[in-house]
Amino acid sequence: APTVGVLAVQGDVREHLRTLESLGVRATTVRRTSELDACDGLVVPGGESTTMAKLVRTFDLFEPIRQRIKAGLPVFGTCAGMIMLADRIEDGAAGQETLGGLDITVRRNAFGRQVDSFEGDLVVAGLDAPVHAVFIRAPWVESVGPDVDVLARVEDGPAAGRIVAVRQGSLMATSFHPEVGGDARVHRLFVDLVEGRDELDPRG
Ligand code: GLN
Repeated sequence: APTVGVLAVQGDVREHLRTLESLGVRATTVRRTSELDACDGLVVPGGESTTMAKLVRTFDLFEPIRQRIKAGLPVFGTCAGMIMLADRIEDGAAGQETLGGLDITVRRNAFGRQVDSFEGDLVVAGLDAPVHAVFIRAPWVESVGPDVDVLARVEDGPAAGRIVAVRQGSLMATSFHPEVGGDARVHRLFVDLVEGRDELDPRG
């Protein structure tokens, strides 16, 4: 079984570990380079992206993770993790650093106060049935570069059409929290990438 790390400096690490374990992979926490080295894939959890970025800096993990991303490491970011993987942030804190890798612009806390946190069913590319998606002070994807595949958009309401799941090569990100609620199918898509199966590639 592959080893999938969960970046464990801040955020909902335990929920990801549990979901990954339910899929039969070896799930481990990552706080240091030696732990990163042992990973075949990495999850960047939800939490608070400005705090997470500061801690990643403190733990000296920015460069090692960026290098692994450049070398093709599959990485899955959820919510704050999506922000961490984005090349560009709107409404970021001053000087907020990201790992980058995904050619997307994200808007933090995009859904506004009235709909700060909400849930809904979402059609996700590659999955037969909708996912029950939990959004918590979520970002949305404002724009994507040419190599990014959109996996899901909000279907109705004021945010209809907004992009909330993307994939580019071995990188995946969701605005919502698939680690909450006991549905492991989105993680399964990621583990498929880690294992070299490419169910999401529209080109086959
Ligand atoms: N609003 C948070 C941020 O900007 C993300 C929220 C989350 O991960 N649930 O980092």
